[in-house]
Amino acid sequence: MVKYIFVTGGVLSSVGKGIVTSSVGKMLQFRGFSVTAIKIDPYVNVDAGTMNPYIHGEIFVTDDGGETDLDLGWYERFLDINLSKENNVTTGQVYQTVIEKERRGDFLGKCVQIIPHITDEIKRRIRMVAKKSGANVVLTECGGTVGDIEGLPFLEAIRQMRLEEGYENTLYIHVALVPILDVTSEMKTKPLQHSVNELRRIGIQPDIIVSRSAKMITNEALEKIALFGTIPKEAVFCSYNVSTIYKVPLILDEQGMGDYICKRLGLIPKQINVGEIEKWRSFVNALENCKYDIRVALVGKYTGLIDSYVSMNEAFKHAGAACSTKVIIDFIEAERFEKSPEKINDLKEYDGIFVPYGFGPRGTAGKMMAIQYARENNIPFLGICYGFQLAVVEFARNACGLENANSTEIDENTPHPVIDLMPEQHQTMYKGATMRLGAHKIIVKEGTLAHKLYGSTEIYERHRHRYEVNPEYVEILEKHGLIFSGRSPDGRRMEILELPDKFFFFASQFHGEFKSRPGKPSPEYYGFVKACLERKLNRGE
Ligand code: GLN
Repeated sequence: MVKYIFVTGGVLSSVGKGIVTSSVGKMLQFRGFSVTAIKIDPYVNVDAGTMNPYIHGEIFVTDDGGETDLDLGWYERFLDINLSKENNVTTGQVYQTVIEKERRGDFLGKCVQIIPHITDEIKRRIRMVAKKSGANVVLTECGGTVGDIEGLPFLEAIRQMRLEEGYENTLYIHVALVPILDVTSEMKTKPLQHSVNELRRIGIQPDIIVSRSAKMITNEALEKIALFGTIPKEAVFCSYNVSTIYKVPLILDEQGMGDYICKRLGLIPKQINVGEIEKWRSFVNALENCKYDIRVALVGKYTGLIDSYVSMNEAFKHAGAACSTKVIIDFIEAERFEKSPEKINDLKEYDGIFVPYGFGPRGTAGKMMAIQYARENNIPFLGICYGFQLAVVEFARNACGLENANSTEIDENTPHPVIDLMPEQHQTMYKGATMRLGAHKIIVKEGTLAHKLYGSTEIYERHRHRYEVNPEYVEILEKHGLIFSGRSPDGRRMEILELPDKFFFFASQFHGEFKSRPGKPSPEYYGFVKACLERKLNRGE
């Protein structure tokens, strides 16, 4: 029998539901259960792919090419599982399916309504993920805040699931903010009480309440939450601020949350998976007790919103923990170098230069200045996706003498379109889900840096791009010393570049960060961090 856990949020968004959901999954894994996780996003977009990362945060890409909410990234990193695009359910998808069915005539004669047709489709999607995953426990996180108009059909659907699946197979967890007043240092539970009331009004009585607060809640606050939430004191937990979010499953487990959930759902742990707990603890320890530190300049376009680069940030943590190195990332707006070119010399202070993904012309000149600086001063460089493409443009211009070489994304009339739209992209008019997406096979050339890092000649990495290296320029680029050490199986699509005469100059068309996990860092990030550290130690700093 599958068990369903639903996570809702109260008081305000960004309260850490994603981390609590991931942590619940981790606690269940500690007890030997298999889990999967679904994120519900009540917006009308079909997927996150067309949203601006600068406002909504990074778009996470799954193996099967889903452009999803960044919470799926947290689920994958915490639970070490590969999710599908089906694990992200949106209003857009639900309505699209129901409307298609209506047009086909599936509901002939009936009035199509939110209840039962929309709610049925929501439940169908949740159960489909349950079935396909074969997991013991399915976690479903409802995005947004209880009370939002657009979230209502989803809450109604999960309310119905209790009736259909049974009390012993369903569990509602409500996560809400408990602020602490500056003046009196008092913990205020009133907003949380109101959000619980709002949830009850919809027909859901939470089984567990997680208070999200800066510090561990006081006994007094805990008792109030239990009393007004109509739950036992043992069912109130606190997700307080910790030095790293990877600690959250540990602090919740210490409070007894894992045991409480199992008891409530009648899940009898076959045996505690000590190996899993130890693995997690040792990662947290490694992360927190690094012997070294390095400073990396991230030269990008979305630097005002850290969430735009969340998987990259985490990939650096995983890579850093694996070589006892704390990676300090300075977010530098690429346009700064365009406005004040002399500022490029600030990069001297860094142990490595990193150019992430991006779209459109803004900031590309500044990014290329940073790439050139890295190349000419032999500073370790890692480029991802746009960073890879811009490294090709920079090399074409400054090392191959191809004047005004460019990507046609930046200049359609460039005399040397070294980066160009992929042929199949010419036919697409639609912007949604039409990029080259998801995991694709890459053939790695033997004896190269890429081969050393990946330890294999065949790898799979995740993609999200419309442009690529123009095959017509491969020969001239390689003649000048650049090596394409990773290519698509047919050989025509360039996937990895490196400059063998440099200490570490590496870039990929794919995004290694999407597959990076605690204890299993992405090889390209790991190689870069290690190179930055080696260079720093060699310089005797
Ligand atoms: N804008 C580039 C492209 O579409 C790179 C995309 C990216 O960095 N994800 O190909």
